[in-house]
Amino acid sequence: MSSRRYTGRLIALATQHGKERVLSRPLRHGLGLTLCHAVAVNTDRFGSFAGEHARPADAPTTCRLKAEAAMQALGLDLGIASEGSFGPHPVVPFLAIGQEWLTLVDRRDGFVISEPMLCSHTNFGSCTAADPESCASWLRQVGFPSHALMVRAHGVENAKPLPWLAKGVHGSAELAHWMAVAVDRSPLGLAWLETDMRAHCNPTRMATIRRLAFRLVRRVAASCPACDAPGWGLVATRAGLPCGACGLATEMVQLEEFGCVACSHRQLLPRRDGLTAADPAHCSYCNP
Ligand SMILES: [Zn+2]
Ligand SMILES: [Zn+2]
Repeated sequence: MSSRRYTGRLIALATQHGKERVLSRPLRHGLGLTLCHAVAVNTDRFGSFAGEHARPADAPTTCRLKAEAAMQALGLDLGIASEGSFGPHPVVPFLAIGQEWLTLVDRRDGFVISEPMLCSHTNFGSCTAADPESCASWLRQVGFPSHALMVRAHGVENAKPLPWLAKGVHGSAELAHWMAVAVDRSPLGLAWLETDMRAHCNPTRMATIRRLAFRLVRRVAASCPACDAPGWGLVATRAGLPCGACGLATEMVQLEEFGCVACSHRQLLPRRDGLTAADPAHCSYCNP
């Protein structure tokens, strides 16, 4: 089992948002790793949800850079980082979607192992209102007060949104206060509210990172059947699942492609859930 290669080693993590709370246990139990928190690394320089800092690269690359910064800060040859990205759903209007990445970097043996996760259950969203009462249903929908908010005055200055007045807003009195300040400073007389997506402000996101940690651990423990490198797992999917009624290929996934992070070995396998035919509802011929 290639997971043995990690037993007893130390792994560096850079986070300012409490992610050590959900990453430590899966890494210890699944791989025998001890998590070391690189407290001196300012993760904001790798981009922030509040938009003050742009990401240096795409999310998976940023994730690897963050892991490497933690390793460098602690002088370790093993590191881990998490990165999330949220936005409007590409197809369904008014729905938000998120994607999380968790990446393990092993510089001793030269492996970079990443596990992505699509999250359709995210509270990501924004709203404009003059006071808390007029946006009560939105507040319930995004899980306030257990999920924190960011507040700014609605409006633009030099083609940029006005700066955030407050982040990590958890309390009703605090929210009312910052909304009143925002309304006062807004040329439109409105406050702009947005979900605070930092992990320690967002229990839904923290739970997703925990689930993803268990998936990453399973992937790291799976070794390539050809070269025994760790990190064997799903790398792509192929559409074409035949329609259960007419047999024509649909857009649904038919085959899952597994791959190695070190060699070119690939395996095409049927869906793990055993589904061999698509519901005719997903067929462009039966249900145009
Ligand atoms: Zn059909
Ligand atoms: Zn391999």
